[in-house]
Amino acid sequence: MNTKTITQEITGINTVTLPNIKMLKYNGIYGEYGGSYVPPVLEPALKKVALLFDTYSSDPDFIHEFSSHLVQYTGRPSPLYYASRLSRHTGAEIYLKREDLNHTGSHKINNTIGQILIAKRGGYKEIIAETGAGQHGVATATVAAMFGIKCKVFMGAIDAERQHLNVHRMKLLGADVVTTSIGTATLKDAVDAALVYFIEHPEAYYLLGSQVGPDPYPRMVGYFQSVIGYEARQQIIEQTGKLPDAALACVGGGSNAIGIFSGFLDDNSVELHGAEGGGQGFLGNTAATLSLGKPGVFQGTKSYCLVDEKGEVLPSHSIAAGLDYPGISPQHSYLKDCKRAKYHIITDNEAVEAYRLLSALEGIIPAIESSHAIALALKSFRNSGKTLVINLSGRGDKDVDRI
Ligand SMILES: *Cc1c(COP(=O)(O)O)cnc(C)c1O
Repeated sequence: MNTKTITQEITGINTVTLPNIKMLKYNGIYGEYGGSYVPPVLEPALKKVALLFDTYSSDPDFIHEFSSHLVQYTGRPSPLYYASRLSRHTGAEIYLKREDLNHTGSHKINNTIGQILIAKRGGYKEIIAETGAGQHGVATATVAAMFGIKCKVFMGAIDAERQHLNVHRMKLLGADVVTTSIGTATLKDAVDAALVYFIEHPEAYYLLGSQVGPDPYPRMVGYFQSVIGYEARQQIIEQTGKLPDAALACVGGGSNAIGIFSGFLDDNSVELHGAEGGGQGFLGNTAATLSLGKPGVFQGTKSYCLVDEKGEVLPSHSIAAGLDYPGISPQHSYLKDCKRAKYHIITDNEAVEAYRLLSALEGIIPAIESSHAIALALKSFRNSGKTLVINLSGRGDKDVDRI
């Protein structure tokens, strides 16, 4: 894997002290995975995005603008919090990377700020996006409002129902929310609907929300989210004087996980663990793409995918709308095959238990997605005494109703 390090470090510009920003830039091919598999009509549109990203991701002015928004608008750096009661309960030293404290309530805003700046540089007049839990839709509608660009968000009808609070938020922010009832009416179908619109309107900017889809999205999303891991690595060393034993995250499409993993990829002593949305834990009722899927081409990229014996894409299921997707990042596909990272099935029930536990023990209501990562710590690191950094990808207000 080509992991070229961007070294622009920005401090003390204007009167604000910006955090040191360092992001990891990948080349878009991860072993046999990645690449771009799209209809020819979309090729020029994607090439334009790739060119913009290649140009601006190394441009100091761009990085400065990105990092100022992360500080002043989003509230970065997010804290790394030592969860003492959860640690005692688990028998491990648990540090939570508080992405739930970001503006709009999850890690999604890191990527949407980065991409809206790309769209602005490219002179785009309309933003389109897909959303599962609604977190990416909200984060996109937010930055579109901030920059005064028209925004359309595609969402499965089932997700719109289970995440109605986020639908109201998006509308309030001025976005046009388009629901789709095709397929399972969840994230995969929202992506399909967004792609159909994109094929008809290739002049729109497609602001993809996870580390999936054709090049350049996986490397672009990985780049913007790698700020999480960079901060977390510095923070854990400041607080404990050493590297952690493991970094944990939930895995939907893989963006928050690659965000935290990026900080530790080159630290071979740090184990990397991903918690997949297991649903009820068997093919036909799961979203555990890496654990139970097979390599294939899906929605524009080569990666693992949930398929049946005939190779047809299977509907996914997870209690967490944000994890309910039959595809996965090509980079995580690669990290699984080369065994740098391990991926685990966490069931709906295990996630709900962790959701309740973290709320009661620490006064932090986690997103049901993030609860999968907490559940993994409870399952795999009990009485291990190990030091864990867990990415708390989002807050759980949106889930209170359903749980
Ligand atoms: C969207 C979302 C996820 C899943 O997406 P990834 O790309 O895998 O990070 C996880 N947690 C929260 C809070 C989300 O909103």
